[in-house]
Amino acid sequence: MSKLRIAFFVAVIAVSSCNAEVPDTSGNVSVQQQQDSAVDKFVKSDEEWMKILTPEEFRIMRKKGTERAYTGKYWNNHDSGMYLCNSCGAELFSSDTKYDSFCGWPSFFGPHFKEAIKYQKDLSLPFEERTEVLCARCDAHLGHVFNDGPEPTGLRYCINSASLKFIAAQSSSK
Ligand code: FE
Repeated sequence: MSKLRIAFFVAVIAVSSCNAEVPDTSGNVSVQQQQDSAVDKFVKSDEEWMKILTPEEFRIMRKKGTERAYTGKYWNNHDSGMYLCNSCGAELFSSDTKYDSFCGWPSFFGPHFKEAIKYQKDLSLPFEERTEVLCARCDAHLGHVFNDGPEPTGLRYCINSASLKFIAAQSSSK
């Protein structure tokens, strides 16, 4: 094998690495070294996802789209409960970590379980390197994480409503 071909394969392996560093502004969240093998994967083809999801959900979750700001159903939701992955049902974010960022999308300062989230470097914008947030179980695109959030993490998980399914906490009054 030529040196050129070896260099090519090394480059492919480097580019295909799917975990990226989470912005660490507080010291509370460190580099994610999460492996896919740590989570029970939920795998479907695009054809199968299209039968389950609406066209808008498919565009966002399976094709890394973004809903328009202030159009999703959860950015202004203040009810108590759990936000599940709208593709596979994994528990992703608790309302306990949701806060008003006024960016137009549901915002959380941390995931419910760190193992529920996967991170990937996103170079799709020309002048801004972002960190994409995905469901670790089914690889659904959720949104991005930024380092301008509140304490205790200093992080803002900016998530599409279409990627979430909210389950309200059961009332104890019944
Ligand atoms: Fe999922």
